[in-house]
Amino acid sequence: MGPGPSMVHPRVYEAISCPLVGHLDPLFLELMTQMQQRLRQVFCTENQLTIAISGTGSAGMEAAFVNLVEPGDEVLVCVNGVFGNRMSDIVGRVGGTLHRIDRPWGEVFDPREIEEALERSPETRIVAIVHAETSTGVCQPLVEIGRICRERDCLLIVDAVTSLAGIELRVDDWLIDACYSGTQKCLSCPPGLAPLTLGPRAIERLSRRRTKVASWYLDLTMIQKYWAERQRTYHHTAPISMNYALHEALGLVLEEGLEPRYARHRLHSRALMAGLEALGFEPAAQEGHRLPVLNAVWVPDGIDEAQMRRRLLDDYNIEIGGGLGELAGKVWRVGLMGESASRDNVHTLLTSLGELLTSNNESTQATAALDAARAIYVS
Ligand SMILES: *Cc1c(COP(=O)(O)O)cnc(C)c1O
Repeated sequence: MGPGPSMVHPRVYEAISCPLVGHLDPLFLELMTQMQQRLRQVFCTENQLTIAISGTGSAGMEAAFVNLVEPGDEVLVCVNGVFGNRMSDIVGRVGGTLHRIDRPWGEVFDPREIEEALERSPETRIVAIVHAETSTGVCQPLVEIGRICRERDCLLIVDAVTSLAGIELRVDDWLIDACYSGTQKCLSCPPGLAPLTLGPRAIERLSRRRTKVASWYLDLTMIQKYWAERQRTYHHTAPISMNYALHEALGLVLEEGLEPRYARHRLHSRALMAGLEALGFEPAAQEGHRLPVLNAVWVPDGIDEAQMRRRLLDDYNIEIGGGLGELAGKVWRVGLMGESASRDNVHTLLTSLGELLTSNNESTQATAALDAARAIYVS
């Protein structure tokens, strides 16, 4: 129940242990084609170039920037947490000119702020923003941002590492040009691949580059020739077993259905938050924009948060996340991602925390916490 890796379904463990075939074996190529179809469904896109980059979510991030930013390109990055910070770091490394706007951690951007930033820097070619900021538990609305970018001939890059398959994400409808994710968050797969989709405007930008992509390994002009059905040109050996796992994990997502899956995440989050509030933990992210998949709460004064997380792990076998960056020591981040989003997990965490809090101070609210959660489930 941390910020990922999330729990993995037995069918995915089974898939990852299947015998290997080669990366050009017809069986494997067929699996890739099917996986691409599944990825398109989960991203809600028709984009042809929808693939899995070898590497974790950060490889997806790096692939988006290294392919779409050329030296000297102006890039606007919206920063309201750790992962926005990381994107702005990468822009500098690939030789882009960084324009950056900041919001306090835990708050979202108003589309007008992005519009104003683009008016101040009209040569901006790319806007980058995080959909689900895992460091703060905030969910950035994206709908209007795509239109703002399109009117100014900017590409929109979206980090969907924590949102894909956990909350609504509509790549085509929201006019997102490049979007990447990771496997170990709401897809409930081991870490190791980064789903990535590029729309027609991004592909055009890529094909018109004046310079070579600075990373050989992540160069999509070459990688796309391996994924294209009639080409299948060797670039690097695909991580075969991870592709088996992702193929199966996507199958599970689609069997459940996207809408029911989003609703499941919302339900368990509401129950968890009701219980945590009864235990004295206040939500840390901006009201109305809280992520169901990553529940951030302030740790009340008088609790040794690191010690309590350690006891949860040692005595109850439950992992939750501490704060990152400026929120270290101040918040907890409780993941309800994919397989982890269950009534059992909510119940076990609230019960365990209730017990731990009782041995630390006199009054216990464990019963109140479970009642609060139950009230959500029966309503
Ligand atoms: C986890 C995460 C990443 C990085 O993914 P890794 O798999 O750790 O490389 C990037 N962005 C967001 C929003 C994340 O939650």
